[in-house]
Amino acid sequence: MEKVRCLILGGGPAGYTAAIYAARANLSPVLYEGLQPGGQLTTTTVVENFPGFPGGVDANTLMDGMRTQARSFGADVRTGVATSADLGVRPFRITVDGSKELEADTLIIATGAAAKYLGLESEKKYMGAGVSACATCDGFFYRGRTVAVVGGGDTACEEALYLSGLAKKVYMIVRRDVFRASRIMQERVLARENIEVLWNCNTKEVLGDALGVTGVRLLRKDGVEFDIAVDGFFLGIGHAPGSELFAPWVKTDADGFIVREGFSARTSVPGVFAAGDVADKAYKQAITAAASGCMAAKDAENYLMEQGL
Ligand code: NDP
Repeated sequence: MEKVRCLILGGGPAGYTAAIYAARANLSPVLYEGLQPGGQLTTTTVVENFPGFPGGVDANTLMDGMRTQARSFGADVRTGVATSADLGVRPFRITVDGSKELEADTLIIATGAAAKYLGLESEKKYMGAGVSACATCDGFFYRGRTVAVVGGGDTACEEALYLSGLAKKVYMIVRRDVFRASRIMQERVLARENIEVLWNCNTKEVLGDALGVTGVRLLRKDGVEFDIAVDGFFLGIGHAPGSELFAPWVKTDADGFIVREGFSARTSVPGVFAAGDVADKAYKQAITAAASGCMAAKDAENYLMEQGL
């Protein structure tokens, strides 16, 4: 069995930044990138709010840069997904891809979060055939067509705005009579002529045929049920944290986000640290994820020193 001083799970801004700091602190970190190397950011195009890039930076370029930087300091960046964990023993035991077993003195969980779905059978049926949770990935296919976006937060607004530049018409399906999104995003959406907001509506069913999505059946709060014709159905209702594997040991909140101690990356299990979206319900930005990755590596370094490991 391989023994590691600092094991990092997750290949997003949090994981790579943790690897940069841990490698520079001589912790010989091993990082497994998970299912989506580069993390969620790679589903977007240009990142305009990462400091230091006044003209914006391509998301993949940014993430490749972080990975290269981590490797340049000696971090061992690998491909693989953690499939089981035992955080009740010391050192911690992690299995990757079902067979590779590792022991780790410290563990940094930076497994991020994944887009949420409504949980409808019809949504599953048309996944990849008109149903998507990533406008920037799939929007291109809806040039000149009609699409719907579910949700009223910043994600949904961002998706709707992006799609409105490609599609002929965008419906936003919002379950209350208000947005949750920031004021600036709300204003942008409401000012866009080809976006129509359907307030107080819930999706009952995604409609389709052999070729894919053809419409959505909606139920309005006043009890009225009606269909709209669309070619694409996009989810923008938030994200679920990738904490499932660790939840039996590490304290999580009601939505599954890992709870950290005060302003630190420490979890309820000493030696286990959390960084990025898996522990962040509020900010979810590349820069906050990167910052918390730094905190996790520094906390891991202190822990190893305190334990004499
Ligand atoms: P939010 O939790 O902020 O919003 C989720 C939205 O989806 C809400 O309108 C919610 O409705 C709705 N919703 C949730 N579940 C359902 C459901 N089952 N059926 C219908 N509607 C549903 O998530 P976001 O992903 O939008 O944002 C998360 C965080 O990331 C926020 O802090 C946001 O500011 C940030 N963010 C920032 C961006 C930026 O700065 N450019 C871009 C994207 C995200 P309700 O309001 O009724 O609960």
